[in-house]
Amino acid sequence: MKGKITIAIDGFSSCGKSTLAKALARALNYKYIDSGAMYRAVTLYALDKGIIKDGHFDHDFLVKALPDITIDFHFNTQTQKSETLLNGINVEDRIRQSEISSLVSPVSAVKEVRIKLVELQRSYDEHKGLVMDGRDIGTNVFPKAELKIFMTADPEIRAARRYDELIAKGYHTTMIDVRSNLAERDHIDSTRADNPLTQAEDAIILDNTDLSPQEQLAFALNLANELKQI
Ligand code: C5P
Repeated sequence: MKGKITIAIDGFSSCGKSTLAKALARALNYKYIDSGAMYRAVTLYALDKGIIKDGHFDHDFLVKALPDITIDFHFNTQTQKSETLLNGINVEDRIRQSEISSLVSPVSAVKEVRIKLVELQRSYDEHKGLVMDGRDIGTNVFPKAELKIFMTADPEIRAARRYDELIAKGYHTTMIDVRSNLAERDHIDSTRADNPLTQAEDAIILDNTDLSPQEQLAFALNLANELKQI
């Protein structure tokens, strides 16, 4: 019996990675880490400090500011949800806003930002029993993860899911904006020089266009349970 494993879930924006990752972590009693939240938190910091102005960021200023940024996760037992802390402050709601979504991919393409966050991401895997989702988890953060899942779905379905999610949370947006943000993020994430979004050779593809969350969980849980026995 191998025991606990590391599970890497990658894929395009709004493919349902975090929904599956959270459900999987809950079912296995594993830790869940949302690596995208870290890139979003750095972007929020840059915005608050004026490093990003009029949609553009000052690369050198951002790199200089990196040592001042700490990111943690806190599990709120009342809401039963994980919260992202930026320098000790809960920024969970702010990092999900459209403004951050539209700025995060260029910030994530900065080499120094990735070096800092990848180091932090790796520190969570000390005892295995981890599910992490993102763009480069199976290819770069945990290339030896026992289970790698690469998620994809029809772009229109992804846009519709994202739109519904934002509206349900009370954010103002339009389908046109959501569609163009997803396309732009996918493009930047897939074409950047450092650790672009690509499918790891040993990843299992999960196209969830026509799958319910329960079906996706059953699929992933089955794979995880098989690997835990090896
Ligand atoms: O997962 P989420 O959509 O919240 O991620 C926000 C952004 O963070 C992505 O569009 C991508 O630019 C960046 N990201 C990344 N590498 C990761 C996770 C997220 O570059 N491992």
